[in-house]
Amino acid sequence: MTGIRQSVMELKEYYVLQDTSVVKLNQNESPYDIPAELKKDVLNKLAKIEWNRYPPLRASKLTEAISNYTQYPDSGIIVANGSNEIIQAVFSAVCEIGDKVVVIVPGFSVYPRIARIMNLEIIEVALLENFSFDVPAIIDYSKKAKMLILSSPNNPTGTDLTIDDITEILQNIEGILVVDEAYFEFNKKTAQEYLKKFYNLIIIRTFSKAFGLAGIRLGYLLARPELAQEIQKAKLPFSVGIFQQLVGEVVMKNTKYTDAVVDEIISGREGVYSELERMSSIKPIRSSTNFILFEVMGKSAKLVYDELYKKKVLVRYFENVRLNTMLRVTIGKAHENEQFLDNLNEIVGS
Ligand code: PMP
Repeated sequence: MTGIRQSVMELKEYYVLQDTSVVKLNQNESPYDIPAELKKDVLNKLAKIEWNRYPPLRASKLTEAISNYTQYPDSGIIVANGSNEIIQAVFSAVCEIGDKVVVIVPGFSVYPRIARIMNLEIIEVALLENFSFDVPAIIDYSKKAKMLILSSPNNPTGTDLTIDDITEILQNIEGILVVDEAYFEFNKKTAQEYLKKFYNLIIIRTFSKAFGLAGIRLGYLLARPELAQEIQKAKLPFSVGIFQQLVGEVVMKNTKYTDAVVDEIISGREGVYSELERMSSIKPIRSSTNFILFEVMGKSAKLVYDELYKKKVLVRYFENVRLNTMLRVTIGKAHENEQFLDNLNEIVGS
């Protein structure tokens, strides 16, 4: 007897290899750190404020900067310690033990993880053969559920919903719809306009991808102010410290460099996609994100993963049945993409 709940004991610890001594293309991070001048600006500001005081509860200056960036009123914005924390706060605010929650498979593993910890009933809706969303099935299962949570574009497939799909889902379900737009800056499609019309929509975004701030831990939510206010109650107070708030504020006020980074990554992605497509034993999935999922034919994907790692290129391998013949590569800097492609070519042949 450990005193720990069964649902937690049954979980495996969240694990991802974090070897930074290699070409690291396994966590969908930005390959670009933020410019040195912006770091200096943050550090100067940090030196001038009191560290002995608690941070502003609602991160008001950062929230205002996000409001400017999104053109959404700050009363409907919540900032958190990474979008993972927002996801957890939404689950705690919305779901009670035994509630049904719909997730998409393959999808982002954190959603079912939190659902398991909370003893929710998880309903998995599979993506179609070509990894697009099965909208009629999603609607059908979500009609009986408390909440539907999905990422669009979806991690790990890179496929996304159209705005029409989202409208159709919203028109047909009554529970909460959470659209995780972690990769929004890469596909530029957002459900934001529907916040005016649908009371049950929640949008989640992150600073970890396009903004290059995965190490800082910052995410935010957009919802109708009445809904945001309730979710705020379920979030831990003061989880976003003064350093995080300052970094977010400075970066949000200097988005020009992010635009350039996003363009660079998108063109890198298209280049990697066409090279992968030319390899006869590789079948890439079209992606609207900063990563590409691809099928490895005629050889074990795990073996290719291991061989790539031996050659100092780290990509992502997934053990689950639908994905274990595939690998996911994050788009890096041009020379990193090249190193990945050259090594893959050597391993699988062209
Ligand atoms: N949502 C999705 C779809 C993701 O892919 C990720 C990161 N892998 C996250 C959320 C988590 O982001 P954060 O770093 O803001 O917690």
